[in-house]
Amino acid sequence: MLQLQNFINGQFVPPVAGRYLPNIEPATGLVYGQIPDSDATDVARAVEAAQAAFPAWRALAAEKRGRLLVRLAELIEQNLEPLAQAESRDNGKPVALARMVDIPRAASNFAFFGTGVGHFASETHFQEGLALNYTVRHPLGVVGCISPWNLPLYLFTWKIAPALAAGNCVVAKPSEITPATAFLLGELCQQAGLPAGVLNIVHGTGPGAGQAIVEHPLVKAISFTGGTKTGEHIARTAAPMFKKLSLELGGKNPNLIFADCDLAAAVSTSIQSSFSNQGQICLCGSRIFIERPIYEQFKAAFLERVAGLTVGDPLLETSRQGALVSEAHLLKVQSYIELARQEGGTLLAGGERVRLDGRCAGGFFLQPTVFEGLAPNCRTNREEIFGPVVTLTPFDTEAEVLDWANGTDYGLSATIWTRDLDRAHRVAHALHAGVVWINTWLLRDLRTPFGGMKNSGVGREGGLEALRFFTEAQNVCVKL
Ligand code: NDP
Repeated sequence: MLQLQNFINGQFVPPVAGRYLPNIEPATGLVYGQIPDSDATDVARAVEAAQAAFPAWRALAAEKRGRLLVRLAELIEQNLEPLAQAESRDNGKPVALARMVDIPRAASNFAFFGTGVGHFASETHFQEGLALNYTVRHPLGVVGCISPWNLPLYLFTWKIAPALAAGNCVVAKPSEITPATAFLLGELCQQAGLPAGVLNIVHGTGPGAGQAIVEHPLVKAISFTGGTKTGEHIARTAAPMFKKLSLELGGKNPNLIFADCDLAAAVSTSIQSSFSNQGQICLCGSRIFIERPIYEQFKAAFLERVAGLTVGDPLLETSRQGALVSEAHLLKVQSYIELARQEGGTLLAGGERVRLDGRCAGGFFLQPTVFEGLAPNCRTNREEIFGPVVTLTPFDTEAEVLDWANGTDYGLSATIWTRDLDRAHRVAHALHAGVVWINTWLLRDLRTPFGGMKNSGVGREGGLEALRFFTEAQNVCVKL
């Protein structure tokens, strides 16, 4: 049985208290490894190592830091297959998805920020005849990066890469539910020659290891991705300590399908945006609003495609839907299916747990599920389910659908399907969402600002936004 260790000061070390947590494979429901149940003592050691590594790391030329990150990107690419297998086994996602999306994106994160930091110019403000002001962007010191289980290595590296590129040292915690690829990243850091202490990876629970990172007085900033409730708790802890905070939280994203859209493309992409990663992507569009003239046509084509989604062992190439990440999460999603029934929804597809034979007999599988007939403001349509469950709702006017789309506490992303350019821009600007896709979904350019409005978060990641977050701006004024 694989026993993971913390990665502190360039070495793999056991948790000081010697406690471990079971790591469960979602596709089988069986324990297949152990992970450190780290506490404040382990975190303190990691912070100490990061603090000691900081002066030399910040003094290293940005180009040299960048080259080490590009080396890490190359090592991730060279280890694509074992990393994809590990991610699939740990998370329950189809291996094909991990191979195509998760692991390549983790490599891109390091390559992007490794090269991008060389283009991170600071501003000057010239006051003619009076003064020259210039801005220095100092790294913050030791920063904390805490990430969730749905896109494990993808989101872990999305935080770590800009933090390191900007000259910070990092103490990072992956979700206790999906620790495997973060552990493997430690090995790649050793191979890349990343100086000891620059990146430290501490495994454990949120309330144990995560809370200790947030509370540690030497951790100057927290970059967190996860649930809105956890984000609220972290903000409450970190704000009185005046830490910088970046919070990427939950979503309940609308997908607006207008009658003039390219229907085939809208159906095909909506299948992806509904059920990719078993619906466990913060950007999934779980509320599908369809303009009434094409409602029945869209519904028929959509349901036909849903019927073709094979739920199976994530390690098989043929599986399009893997397992949900844990039994607790499966039960939560099932409780929302029950709620949708109680709220008067008509079940059009799915709704049941899937029992597979053989290796996966105890796995956490669920049918892709579609409801219609629910009020736009019912709980099913307002609360984040974070599973393979979507609702279909017809609409008559642009004003009506905007009202419904904006009618939740969340504001992460939205998708619009239309051929009318004026409408596309008008609706995009009226949507309360940090990211709006028009006639596409999840098409990402790492230079763009990424983050949510309302309860979906505070701050933006991506491109220069991330490098600004992980630095402190200082104004220097020289009198002429
Ligand atoms: P959680 O909020 O439960 O956990 C996220 C991370 O925070 C985990 O590493 C968790 O550890 C840790 N954590 C939990 N409690 C604390 C604490 N008190 N102090 C510090 N760290 C803590 O989210 P999930 O892992 O369940 O992820 C799903 C959520 O993430 C969904 O709401 C989804 O929308 C959101 N998300 C948002 C994204 C965005 O970009 N806006 C992207 C992806 C997901 P542990 O797991 O060990 O408990």
